[in-house]
Amino acid sequence: MHYFSTRNNTLRTTLSEAILSGLAPDGGLFIPDHFPRIDINDFSNDLTYPAFAAKVLAPYCKNDPLEVHLSEICKNAFTFPLPLKPLNDTDFVLELFHGPTLSFKDVGARFLAESLQILGQKMTILVATSGDTGSAVASAFYHKKNINVIILYPKGKISTRQEHQITCWGDNILALAVDGTFDDCQALVKEAFQNTWWNEHYHLSSANSINIGRLLPQTTYYAYHSVLFYRKYHAAPGFIIPTGNLGHATAAYWAKMMGFPIREIVVATNANQTISDYLKTGEFKPRPSVSTLANAMDVGNPSNFERLSYLYPIFNKFRKNVKSVSVSDEEIKKTIKKVYDNTGMIICPHTATAFFAREEFAAAPFIMVSTADPCKFEEIIEPLIGHPVPIAAGMKHMLETPAVRQVVNANLEDIQALMMQFLPDLL
Ligand SMILES: *Cc1c(COP(=O)(O)O)cnc(C)c1O
Repeated sequence: MHYFSTRNNTLRTTLSEAILSGLAPDGGLFIPDHFPRIDINDFSNDLTYPAFAAKVLAPYCKNDPLEVHLSEICKNAFTFPLPLKPLNDTDFVLELFHGPTLSFKDVGARFLAESLQILGQKMTILVATSGDTGSAVASAFYHKKNINVIILYPKGKISTRQEHQITCWGDNILALAVDGTFDDCQALVKEAFQNTWWNEHYHLSSANSINIGRLLPQTTYYAYHSVLFYRKYHAAPGFIIPTGNLGHATAAYWAKMMGFPIREIVVATNANQTISDYLKTGEFKPRPSVSTLANAMDVGNPSNFERLSYLYPIFNKFRKNVKSVSVSDEEIKKTIKKVYDNTGMIICPHTATAFFAREEFAAAPFIMVSTADPCKFEEIIEPLIGHPVPIAAGMKHMLETPAVRQVVNANLEDIQALMMQFLPDLL
């Protein structure tokens, strides 16, 4: 299997190289040169999740240095449950938030960290985060040898508990509260990547969902649950996916391309409605992000659009395959309250977009993807439901670990100074 850039299909490379570099040299995103077709009978019900995942991913690692390590990577990365829970005959919830930092981002971040550790190159991972990526990457890379991590997040724009989860590490993890917006953080990352001096001295790589090493592992939960669902209910489910950068939604399309029984895919966004507008007008117009209650989805220029439109280059085909619903903060609040009142279930603001979107579709079976533990967003949820949100054990543990908030101006020189002061020397 080879990988090429969404902008140039002659720029071919291996999986390891694609993972190490993050972004293709021409600024495009790496995609596999084909999607292997599966036979559902090869995936028996009694496979463990890591074994199932390794089987899904095996063709993508063919003839790559990672191939012989794939089972071990999956075993080390996928250490937590990803349960599917029925609500009624047609509605199901897939909980992806039982990992160490309580969001689905643990799945991709842990797979990426295990893979990079095996590839053994000294490097600095630089990430901008509007919330959950930072903690998932910090947790996944903590104490990994020869890899430093710098996390930039916008000061005062993420929840208190999200911030604690990002700043409680130390060792090879440096978390910086940037005096600016998420877009400023992202601009700093881009600037560093374009800066030759930074690149030469620190071997920069990215752990955002532009990195295919985060995207591929996310195909596995769609694959796994579509197969189990199909066997149990004799129908292919639809998935409704809370979306920001279109990362794990793209992973769902890849699972569908492989032949896993997925009927349809709906992407739910918050008030950042670039995708919904594209579906209406056929014009893709990126814009600055707006802050919403579902902060991990505050993206105005979803980078994985490039991967998704590679699958459906003709607008009519894109529109046939991609459905989207944009959900306002008001609707998010109402949905959290309504779901709690009707079922007793507490959902996070991101997950609420999927629950809201569900109502726009008929009675076919749908799996709503639940992306974060509500206890990360208790400041939003508790006033709505009038009830404390139970704290997950993993969160309790992190809140008891002391955290240090370090503020930095939005410029590269100041970040560099802190990096030299606090991070282990890789040279
Ligand atoms: C990152 C995130 C999303 C959006 O995922 P994308 O892959 O960027 O589309 C949704 N919900 C939560 C809780 C997240 O952390």
